[in-house]
Amino acid sequence: MTAPTENAVLADLRAALPAEAVVTDPAALGARSQDGSATPPTGAALALVQPATTAEVSAVLRTAHAHGVPVVPQGALSGLAGGANAVPGAVLLSTARMTEIRRIDPVDQVAVVQPGVITRDLVDAVAARGLFYPPDPASYGISTIGGNIATNAGGMRCVKYGVTRDFVRALEVVLADGTVIRTAPGTVKAVAGLDLTGLVVGSEGTLAVVTEATLGLLPAPGPDRGVCATFGSVADALDAANALVASAHRPSTLELLDDVVLAALAAYDPDAGLPVGARAMLLVITDEPGDRGAQDVATYAAVAREHGAVGVDEAHDPERLHALMRARRAFNQAMRAVRGGSINEDVAVPRTRLPDLLERLADISAQVGLPIGTGGHVGDGNLHPVIAFDPADPAQVTAAAEAHSRILGLAVELGGTVTGEHGIGTEKRGALVGELGERVLAIQRGIKQVLDPTGVLNPGKKL
Ligand SMILES: Cc1cc2nc3c(=O)[nH]c(=O)nc-3n(C[C@H](O)[C@H](O)[C@H](O)COP(=O)(O)OP(=O)(O)OC[C@H]3O[C@@H](n4cnc5c(N)ncnc54)[C@H](O)[C@@H]3O)c2cc1C
Repeated sequence: MTAPTENAVLADLRAALPAEAVVTDPAALGARSQDGSATPPTGAALALVQPATTAEVSAVLRTAHAHGVPVVPQGALSGLAGGANAVPGAVLLSTARMTEIRRIDPVDQVAVVQPGVITRDLVDAVAARGLFYPPDPASYGISTIGGNIATNAGGMRCVKYGVTRDFVRALEVVLADGTVIRTAPGTVKAVAGLDLTGLVVGSEGTLAVVTEATLGLLPAPGPDRGVCATFGSVADALDAANALVASAHRPSTLELLDDVVLAALAAYDPDAGLPVGARAMLLVITDEPGDRGAQDVATYAAVAREHGAVGVDEAHDPERLHALMRARRAFNQAMRAVRGGSINEDVAVPRTRLPDLLERLADISAQVGLPIGTGGHVGDGNLHPVIAFDPADPAQVTAAAEAHSRILGLAVELGGTVTGEHGIGTEKRGALVGELGERVLAIQRGIKQVLDPTGVLNPGKKL
């Protein structure tokens, strides 16, 4: 039976939103209660609301604030840290229906968008105007811009262009009490006041709900050209990757896949066209136009060979490269298919510590007796060790949890972070104090207190 407070909350939500925008059907709530991580929600939600306007988002937050009900902002639920998971009695606030691209301006070089725009739709829309939005998480075909901003998503092109944060010029956000604010004017330069835009980026829905974003754009790059190189050892591949980053020919994409991942991908999609049998693979892409791109490809091939590559495929054809990238994007699903369950880590370390990281990951895999396939954004020092396990086997579940905890500790020990791009969510909260320390964590919780004094926004996440 619904409690009196819950009835009052639902009545207020129904008064504020169109009827179809408030959902209480348990099956529909269940389907929207967990993101792409293996972390289950901590409780059942009260309702799912799907506003279409900033005013509706504001009304939802005013209602929740008045009743002291938690609100969980949600995008496409492709997150990998439990950040958008339901918490007990929560209103799930999906911004996925806010899909308007409001402005693309070639002179100001901005796009103004609602948060529910799918990342790839934005990339395609600005490309049609000769412009470029570089952030491209591997999930860009499903993730939303709001989710990307709230997680400060990275992706394949960060090695050259940076992460989502580097392209967010200004935000319209709704605060916990329903107040709507703009964080900055959206100009290229703006240094008045503190950087509220930067604070909201990466805050995982704990400080405010993003309702509009002004995103910086670049002129369109040249065509993708590149090299797919295979190596007889991961150490050789890492040496080659670091030599490439240190050279004057900075790639736009520099991805690593180890042998466990290559085998998983070959089993998952035998037609993927990735090399089979190598110990490691590097995918190195340039998007420089004209002769510069051709010179880059020649340099990448030469550097790979100097560092012991056993196979070097110079892929000048963008279609072939895009096919390799599509295969690379299936990495998480392929690793999950190995044993039915997976924990996707997201550690980042200084690039000079990558050899230590890979060596110690192999030790952890052997010690816990589970496959750990590692790949990802080697050019950023940000790799995704994925632990494969059988969720029906309690011993494997325990071993996977042990591996998870050891990998997080290892990242911090090597001078890195437990999360380079996926976020803390609920999954890595326990590791936060080990990385930040008590004092810094207290400062961050103090900032949350200022913006959300009653703690209704995404409680139990991030901090
Ligand atoms: C196959 C696959 C590949 C991936 N590859 C990458 C990758 O390369 N790089 C990367 O960074 N991530 C990657 N991810 C993770 C994920 O796609 C990103 O974290 C993405 O940014 C989440 O977007 P979303 O719309 O799905 O957000 P959700 O998962 O719905 O939410 C993520 C977080 O954002 C908050 N949030 C969502 N919308 C709003 C809003 N409007 N206002 C405030 N807070 C909000 C939620 O509360 C939650 O904390 C991958 C995931 C998958 C499944």
